[in-house]
Amino acid sequence: MPGQPLRVAIVGSGPAGFYAADALLKSEEPSVEVDMIERLPTPWGLVRLGVAPDHPNIKSVSKAFERIAARPGFRFFGNVEFGRDITHEELTRQYDAIVYAVGAQTDRHLGIPGEDLPGSWPATAFVAWYNGHPDFQDLEFDLSGERAVVVGNGNVAVDVARMLALTEEELAPTDTTDPAIAAIVGSGIREILVLGRRGPAQAAFTTPELQELGELAGADVVVDPADLDLDPASKAALAEDTPIARRNVDVLREYAARMPAGKPRRVTLRFCVSPVAILGEGKVEAVEVVRNALVADADGQIRAEPTADREVIPCGIVFRSVGYHGVPLPGVPFDERRGTIPNDAGRVRDGDGERATGVYCTGWIKRGPSGVIGTNKKDATETVEHLLEDARAGLLPRRDVDVPGLDDALRLRGAEAVTYAGWEAIDATERALGEPLGRPRVKLCSWDELLAAARA
Ligand code: NAP
Repeated sequence: MPGQPLRVAIVGSGPAGFYAADALLKSEEPSVEVDMIERLPTPWGLVRLGVAPDHPNIKSVSKAFERIAARPGFRFFGNVEFGRDITHEELTRQYDAIVYAVGAQTDRHLGIPGEDLPGSWPATAFVAWYNGHPDFQDLEFDLSGERAVVVGNGNVAVDVARMLALTEEELAPTDTTDPAIAAIVGSGIREILVLGRRGPAQAAFTTPELQELGELAGADVVVDPADLDLDPASKAALAEDTPIARRNVDVLREYAARMPAGKPRRVTLRFCVSPVAILGEGKVEAVEVVRNALVADADGQIRAEPTADREVIPCGIVFRSVGYHGVPLPGVPFDERRGTIPNDAGRVRDGDGERATGVYCTGWIKRGPSGVIGTNKKDATETVEHLLEDARAGLLPRRDVDVPGLDDALRLRGAEAVTYAGWEAIDATERALGEPLGRPRVKLCSWDELLAAARA
C-alpha cells in the first residue's frame, strides 16, 4: 500500500511501549500510525503500578508519555486483553507490524520448602497492592509480626523495605492507597530484615536508593561492620571499574559505623545469607537461612556457595524479591528459561530460529527484567530501527485491508475499549480527589470505578 502510513500495534503501555510509540511516530518515511493495546483501563505500566509512590520524580516520566500520546496517529485501546479480546493471529492481519512490550508479569521463585506458606509473598504483589493495581486490592498482608524479612538485594527489595518503614507523614503526600497507608502505619513491624545472598560489593541496588534507607524519619538503618570485612575476590572486584559497587560499599560502611538513633523501626541489611526454608505451622513463623561463602569463578563471576552454618530467624511475613519473570503470550514464541520472547535485537524469532516477519519486541519481554526506565528508550529505539528498516526493504507482510480494524473487531465482540480520552477522564477524577488533600492523586483501585470514570 504505497503512500499509506504503516500501521503498527504495540501490545503493552509501559515505558517500553511508549518509547517504541515515540520512535515510530517520529518516522517520516514511512510515516506510521500506532494503536496501543493495554489490558488495564490505565496506561504507564510499572510507572503507575510499580514505581514506589514516594518516588514522584520517577513517576513524572509519565509527562513525556502524555506528549507522545498527544501526537497525531496515536490511539489507545485500554481494557483490551490480548488473547481474550484480540489474538496474535488477528493482529497480524490488521497491522503491518506488531511490537510486544508486555514486560515481565510474574516473579521468580526461590524454589525452597515453605515458599507457598501463607505470609510468604512475592514482593511484586505487595508493590501492586500499595500502588492500587485493581487486581491486587483483595490481598491481605498480615503486618502484625515484629519482623518482616525481604529476600533479595535489588531495587525492588529496597523499595519494599523502605515502604514498610515509612511514617504517616512520609506516606500522606503520596498516592499510596489509603488501605496500604493504614496498614503500614499501624503495623506491628519493628524490624525489616533485608537478606542478600552475596556480599555488599555484589548488591544489585543502586546508590541513591540505598542512601534513602539512611534518611528515613521512622527507622534506623543497621549494618553489621563484620559484613563490610570484604573477601579477597570482592576487594579485587572493587578495585576494578565498578563505581556503583564502590559507592554502595562506601554508604554501607557509613551505615555500619552509625549509632542507632532509637527510631521506632529499623531496617537491617544482612549479606551472604540465603533462605533455605520458610518455616511455620499454617503460616510464616520463621526463615531458615544458610551462611554463604563467596567464590570467584574462572570467568571472574562471584558466586554464593552455602556453608554448613545455618540459623533460624523468627518473622511474621516474608517478601520474596528476587526478580521478575516474563510470561508467554498465546500464539507468540517464548523462551521459558529466560522468560523472554526469542529475538534478534528486537526482531522476533520463532521456535526454529526463523524470523517471525512483522513481529517485534521491546523492553523486559525482549531483554529480561533489568535496567531503569530510561534503559527502555535505547532498547525501543533499536527495535523500531529494525522494524523501519524491514518496512523500507519491503520485508513486512502488509495488512489485510478486507478484515475489520481493531476498533470494529472489538465492537463486534462486545469488548469495551477505554480510549485515551477515557484514560484522561480517569486521570482527571483521580487528580481531583487528590488535590484537596495535597496528594498527586487518589487512585481508583477497582475495575468498576476505573471503567465508570472512563465512561464519564
Ligand atoms: P534485580 O535488580 O535483578 O535484583 C534481584 C536480586 O535478587 C539480586 O540481588 C539477586 O542476587 C537476588 N536473587 C536472585 N535469585 C535469588 C535467590 N535464589 N536467592 C536470593 N537472592 C536472589 O531485580 P529487582 O529488584 O526485581 O529489579 C528489577 C529491575 O527494576 C532492576 O533493573 C532494578 O534496578 C529496576 N528497579 C529500579 C528502581 C529504581 O530505579 N528506583 C526501583 C525498582 C526496580 P544476585 O545478584 O546474587 O543474583
